[in-house]
Amino acid sequence: MIFLKDFHILNPAEREFDFYRGSLLIKDGKIAQIYREPEKPEPAEIQGAEIISGHPSKLIFPGFIQSHIHLCQTLHRNLAEEMPLLQWLTDEVWPYEATLDRKKMGRAVIMGLKEIISSGTTAILDMGTVHEQEVIFEIMGRVGFRYTGGKAMMDKVSNAPEGLKESMDESLDESIRLYEKFHRSHDGLLHYALSPRFLLSCSDELLRQVKIFSDDNDLIIQTHGAEHPDEVETIKKKIGFGNIAYLEKIGALNNNTVITHAVHVDENEKEILQDYAIAVVHCPSTNLKLGSGIAPVNEYLQRGITVGLGTDGAPCNNSHSVFFGMKLASLLQKGINHNPLLFPAEESLRMVSLRGAEIIKMGDTVGSIEEGMDADLAILNMDSPQTYNFEENPAAAIVFGADARNVYATMVRGKFLYREGKFSTTLEALDRSFNSNLRVL
Ligand SMILES: [Zn+2]
Repeated sequence: MIFLKDFHILNPAEREFDFYRGSLLIKDGKIAQIYREPEKPEPAEIQGAEIISGHPSKLIFPGFIQSHIHLCQTLHRNLAEEMPLLQWLTDEVWPYEATLDRKKMGRAVIMGLKEIISSGTTAILDMGTVHEQEVIFEIMGRVGFRYTGGKAMMDKVSNAPEGLKESMDESLDESIRLYEKFHRSHDGLLHYALSPRFLLSCSDELLRQVKIFSDDNDLIIQTHGAEHPDEVETIKKKIGFGNIAYLEKIGALNNNTVITHAVHVDENEKEILQDYAIAVVHCPSTNLKLGSGIAPVNEYLQRGITVGLGTDGAPCNNSHSVFFGMKLASLLQKGINHNPLLFPAEESLRMVSLRGAEIIKMGDTVGSIEEGMDADLAILNMDSPQTYNFEENPAAAIVFGADARNVYATMVRGKFLYREGKFSTTLEALDRSFNSNLRVL
């Protein structure tokens, strides 16, 4: 039992955010009780609890949820600079992914995990590579992180390195095996997501089979789409349709579909996104770095499309801290629409809380601070020059001023995975074992 005493609490909402001073009692992994000042617990209620003071300037926000990331790519950071998307993928990322064995994958995932945990992230929707997905689930289960993800599926790439080649049957069989082994395991912290990489790497039949399995088992399908003008052009030349339009034509879309990027989408495709209630994940830093463009995110919001935020892969963004993405998302929409009133800081915070929770199908469990919800929290220390006057506009202070330096602690289901610069002992032990010659897991 933990008593978080005397904090600033910022709870996201569809309209106005709720900002108040109060205390939280964390019990059995849940937010058992909220005490809004001047309410206080009876001494008996918190007897035996570890008491942590938030006085004077610590702030609790729901733990950040990233809706798109590739933790497996972490070790290729800073090694694939200044390249267009398709070349970046085939010359750098795929050859790297093909080299990942169990141990190297473990090292990549733990490095990425430490980065996101120490910057306030408590849940992700992650896309792995073709193989070695099992070790990712094992690490997440051990650490107690909230993980949804799956192995990348790609049965139609003639120029992929040997290590990434797979047939449709192999791709489906391995995905289903992993689903059966890990979906909803570790008390529901781990979930499987079907992960066809992108249209050009998947056969039509694979995409249709994925959709059928998703319908039957209510499983997320995550894929990349409409990212770069060259990619869209290549697809149009090959098949005569836009990316999303083609997925619809072959019957590969449903309301479990999550499309990352959606930068270049025509009117018909925007309507498809709406009609199928497809969620979009915005990765502004990746889109700028690979010269892809700027997704019309504000328009998506106006159309009622769910939009989450992701930091994507380390080789295309270089940072997995969600703070920079939140800031960029807001600034880009203000800038391209010539309107400073658009996309306030709260909108960015919704993407990493309420919307993220919706995308990973956990809106009733995480993403806001309510009694009975799981205690997935980002605790920020706002006593810093970059967050001065945060009491006046806490959302602006977090999105435009704060960064990973402000993260005091990160908690998943009532357990601190990171606190005051230190990671949990389990995570440190795993890090040591994957970076040594010892037998691991
Ligand atoms: Zn990606």
